[in-house]
Amino acid sequence: MPEVWRDVPGFEGRYAVSDWGRVKSLPHYVTQRNGVVIPVIGRHLTPYKEKGGRLILSLGRGYRRRVHQIVMLAFVGPCPDGMEVCHNNGDASDNRLVNLRYDTHKGNEQDKIRHGTHHNTVKTHCIHRHEYTPENTYLTKDGRRNCLTCRLAREAARWQRLKHDESHKAYMREASRRYEAAHKSERRRGSAYSSPAKRQTTTDINHRGDVA
Ligand SMILES: [Zn+2]
Repeated sequence: MPEVWRDVPGFEGRYAVSDWGRVKSLPHYVTQRNGVVIPVIGRHLTPYKEKGGRLILSLGRGYRRRVHQIVMLAFVGPCPDGMEVCHNNGDASDNRLVNLRYDTHKGNEQDKIRHGTHHNTVKTHCIHRHEYTPENTYLTKDGRRNCLTCRLAREAARWQRLKHDESHKAYMREASRRYEAAHKSERRRGSAYSSPAKRQTTTDINHRGDVA
């Protein structure tokens, strides 16, 4: 299949992108500081690789774009709200148009799990080297796996700290004192036996009394 080139939207006549995922600069003229205009030949741009394998290019000063974004923008259109570019085969550096699609973040994550490239699926141990066995794994609300051994250790450590923490003890004493006081005054008012509406009125009056 022949390579198809299109102008990069926003850089018409300056940069072009192909359905193979290549980007090139087009022949153009540059005015030098001394006023002399010189022709510049077009060339293929060499992207650099991000940590996750995605390719990045700089189109002009301070205008960095991921290659997959440029390809999709030129051949499909702007990214719909709430979507992102997905690599169908799981290879983040394969930016051929046939390998790209717009999908939700969820779809992208499922892709990664399918390809075995999800950062959590490939992990077999937690950072403290406890294995992610079914007994030692729990899922957080957002579906991430966590180490149960580490969690219990964290909770035990927290409890130990609190047990010896004077300010925490003082806080707890103060809290239970306030709780006792609140319930004592409620008992005194006999509001436990009154209707909720009446109880509200009583409280209001008391508050006003407190302020005055
Ligand atoms: Zn652990």
